[in-house]
Amino acid sequence: MTVDHILAVKGRDVITIPPHRTLDEAVKLLAEKHIGALVVAGADRRVLGIITERDIVRVLARRGAAAFGESVSAHMTGNVRTCHGGFLVNDVMEIMTLGKFRHVPVVEDEVLVGIISIGDVVKHRLAEVEREHQVLREYIATA
Ligand code: AMP
Repeated sequence: MTVDHILAVKGRDVITIPPHRTLDEAVKLLAEKHIGALVVAGADRRVLGIITERDIVRVLARRGAAAFGESVSAHMTGNVRTCHGGFLVNDVMEIMTLGKFRHVPVVEDEVLVGIISIGDVVKHRLAEVEREHQVLREYIATA
């Protein structure tokens, strides 16, 4: 199972935010879209960073509400691990586990084309395990 398979089911829309926007705008966008991460990108859709609910909780714990007026670029992670459509879902799972994060943007020719969250990985992994069990049940029943 590849990243392209997941994107074919879930779609390729990614909610982005430009780096000069404020944390206040980021929080509102996260809440409005019911998501946990925003890819930071300009109009050219090149990935400049990622900002997630964890980054925002961290800065709020440290500095309180004053941080809401600060820019997304001041609090995003700039060194983003990305993948492309040909990656195996298991490889993306390993990237998430080793990096201790739950989102991996999908990039083709340096342009953002999708995002994989840990929820997508778990959903597809469960479907895979269920399929394997079904094959084994059928095998046992006909043996
Ligand atoms: P998350 O678990 O995705 O909420 O992210 C936890 C931390 O990792 C936050 O500081 C994020 O900015 C950062 N992060 C999330 N996704 C990535 C990624 N693909 N590459 C690098 N850092 C990331």
